[in-house]
Amino acid sequence: MLDFFFPSPCLLCGKNGKPICTNCLLRLQLQLGRTKSHGLEIFYLSIYQDEIAKVITAIKDKGLTSLIIPLLQYCSWPDNWQSVTLVPIPSARQAEIKRGFSHTQLLAKALASKHPNLKVANLLRSKTRRLDQAGLSQKERLDNLAGAFECRTGSTSASRVVLIDDVYTTGATMAAARQTLESSGFEVFGCFVLALVKAPKSAI
Ligand SMILES: [Zn+2]
Repeated sequence: MLDFFFPSPCLLCGKNGKPICTNCLLRLQLQLGRTKSHGLEIFYLSIYQDEIAKVITAIKDKGLTSLIIPLLQYCSWPDNWQSVTLVPIPSARQAEIKRGFSHTQLLAKALASKHPNLKVANLLRSKTRRLDQAGLSQKERLDNLAGAFECRTGSTSASRVVLIDDVYTTGATMAAARQTLESSGFEVFGCFVLALVKAPKSAI
């Protein structure tokens, strides 16, 4: 209702009307991209750059969750990932408590509402206290995430799952989540993210 009287400005250009305007959405050039990492497929909507980073930060840290649906507006879902269960990767527990919501759960729900053959199951829970991954080296990320998740078994009959996260950086989070799920008998197909941090050529 408030939006009707005081339309929110577009996050990126500041014009009134929508949380993100059509022009800015088109400028982001979101489209489904695919890569492989650690033997799994990664699908992403954008290469990580300043503007998509600003959108993701606004969702996570400012609670502008209404940005999620427009981001998915122009994107398809991978043909080879039909009838899978989406498993959101939880943030560090203290970050999620501070936020009051899980942006990866919201992203998974938005995907499932757009593609009715997808289901969502919150199979993963953050187990230990851990640091925010940003700013950590690859080795520190792996150490930080060792034993980070536990699986809520019995909460679903799903066996084929796809992980949902906001950003794919080194794959350390995905590896930890995958290990937890596979040791509980789930088959992990890959990971869907909003943005992929492109590795420098020398690292490929
Ligand atoms: Zn705009």
